[in-house]
Amino acid sequence: MSPSRVLVLNSGSSSVKYQLLDMRDSSRLAAGLVERIGEETSRLRHTPLARGGETREWNAPVADHEAALKAVSQELAKDGLGLDSPELAAIGHRVVHGGQTFTEPTVVDEAVLAEIERLIPVAPLHNPANLTGIRTAQALRPDLPQVAVFDTAFHTTMPESAARYAIDVRTADEHRIRRYGFHGTSHAYVSRATAKLLGKAPEEVNVIVLHLGNGASASAVRGGKCVDTSMGLTPLEGLVMGTRSGDADPAVIFHLARVGKMSIDEIDTLLNKKSGLVGLCGDNDMREIRRRIDEGDARAQLAFDIYIHRLKKYIGAYCAVLGTVDAIAFTAGVGENAAPVREAAVAGLEILGLAVDGERNAVRSDEPRLISPEDARVKVAVVPTDEELEIATQTYALVGR
Ligand code: ADP
Repeated sequence: MSPSRVLVLNSGSSSVKYQLLDMRDSSRLAAGLVERIGEETSRLRHTPLARGGETREWNAPVADHEAALKAVSQELAKDGLGLDSPELAAIGHRVVHGGQTFTEPTVVDEAVLAEIERLIPVAPLHNPANLTGIRTAQALRPDLPQVAVFDTAFHTTMPESAARYAIDVRTADEHRIRRYGFHGTSHAYVSRATAKLLGKAPEEVNVIVLHLGNGASASAVRGGKCVDTSMGLTPLEGLVMGTRSGDADPAVIFHLARVGKMSIDEIDTLLNKKSGLVGLCGDNDMREIRRRIDEGDARAQLAFDIYIHRLKKYIGAYCAVLGTVDAIAFTAGVGENAAPVREAAVAGLEILGLAVDGERNAVRSDEPRLISPEDARVKVAVVPTDEELEIATQTYALVGR
């Protein structure tokens, strides 16, 4: 029998998340995470899902990504799923930035690695870690296809009118400044799953996807193709996020530098790590913010209101971009779980054909579901995202036989 397993790796600067899937039935065999790589307090958490096994966890220093991947392989081997298994068909890697080059998942070779490296200036935090993950996996299994699945790929169909900033063209081109968008694997998966929920083909529907996690982005998808998205050159643009400001007048940066005497690095940290919900009220977890609102906390309420105001603006904008909308889909940690966010985001948008049914919205489930009233012109849906399954599916489609 031909190999049917795909290992999905999401390598960050100090962590590796992984899932092993069997693509014969898309089932998950194992999942886990190595955190705080390079520190004394590294931790590995591994769950052998196939056997309904219990999560194993240990703390011990893990020096680098190579040591991390070897530790993962050892854990997998305990359940007979080691990386040396002939059942493994490929390793699928999440790569954050594919620039304008990578519009599709791509089997990694030296030229692909060089191009991912060339894109480091536009993704300084992510692409180096993704590259390390790929190289480490290559060293462990040189015989195996490694596939790069890019966060930006789904957005490469955006027209120039949406992808370009209105800044001097020569300067923009010289520095590759344009709107790339991120979370593409999730937007691709959720927009297709939403079409399926409506009983239609992706080509037949226009969908607005609201990916609301700690990072958050919206996209407008026409007939299965992305035509606009809220993140830009980096994931900082767009919606209010857990710790990122989202849209702000670029002159805020000049002002902080000139008048606030802050360095560029300090401003970068402020806008990426100390803004958004956490900057507004001290918390970035929507559960905590809702709890504080219930206790009458005014700062939490204002943070929530600013978050919702921005979300509504993007829903309105993407209705205008698309012209006709069949559905809007909420996904990721906040979108899938926070009924008050969904209710507030859609409240007052009847003019756009949007409404949420209170009872349906209150249902908790892991399944895709509609939360709009029965007769709604535009459907509102909750569609759980599954980036690992999408990466595995795309990887297997390239290499599976
Ligand atoms: P990311 O992948 O961007 O780190 P997730 O998609 O996992 O994030 O979302 C994490 C966020 O989801 C948390 O910060 C929290 O705000 C929110 N969240 C998770 N569970 C709930 C819940 N039950 N109710 C409200 N918000 C939740």
